[in-house]
Amino acid sequence: MIRVMCSGRVDLSFVLRAFANGMDGVFIGGCNLGECNYDTHGNYHALNMVLLAKKIMNHIGLNPDRLRVEYMSSGDGILFAEVMTDFTKKVKALGPLGKGEGLDEQELKSRLAAVSNLVPYIKIAKKEKLATPLKHKSKAEYEALFTSEEIDELLGKPVSYYIDPSKCQACMICARRCPEEAIISVKNQIHVIEQDKCIKCGTCFDVCPSRFGAVTKISGEPVPPPLPEEERTIKRTN
Ligand code: SF4
Ligand code: SF4
Repeated sequence: MIRVMCSGRVDLSFVLRAFANGMDGVFIGGCNLGECNYDTHGNYHALNMVLLAKKIMNHIGLNPDRLRVEYMSSGDGILFAEVMTDFTKKVKALGPLGKGEGLDEQELKSRLAAVSNLVPYIKIAKKEKLATPLKHKSKAEYEALFTSEEIDELLGKPVSYYIDPSKCQACMICARRCPEEAIISVKNQIHVIEQDKCIKCGTCFDVCPSRFGAVTKISGEPVPPPLPEEERTIKRTN
């Protein structure tokens, strides 16, 4: 399957979706680094995204060699053919996705689904590194951008957001700003985050007025259960 778009447009979620849809390998071809026709230099973004995706693949037990990015110009037809032949050969040698890594189908699906749900959170947590162009084109620099330890830490203990019922004053600001409508918002009632809809963007944490400070960031601990509906009526503190 071939998709044509600027390499900078290739999102981490596209890569994970391709694997979830059964692709054994994903190849991204971009224009040569430093030769983008636009100010955006999206091919650098693609490189950083791929470096991150490889570490994520490693974390969930997939061989990162199933993902490859290469840069070339439109005149590099022979190089393109060589690279594609080599990539195809290597992916074939790795075997079908999951099987080659000793994962059964269900386990593979569940790992890919779990990490795909965390894409917005991962992108926010790593936004600075994702936006930093790598200048030296060296393997050492590429390897150092994201370490396995930081990705294990990020994905091993993902944050969750929770509204403390004793502090929420139902001002509704968080619900208005939540990009996923993940906050149950009823006038004069303590607000509640629906954890299965939350993409962990942290907006509610940032916008909850400091005088209330009702949104809490939780890491490595279970989120307390939501308050039963009949107990959500606000007892105002001011
Ligand atoms: S972190 Fe907060 S604002 Fe972001 S999706 Fe979750 S509930 Fe909504
Ligand atoms: S912004 Fe804070 S105080 Fe206001 S409804 Fe949300 S959690 Fe409650």
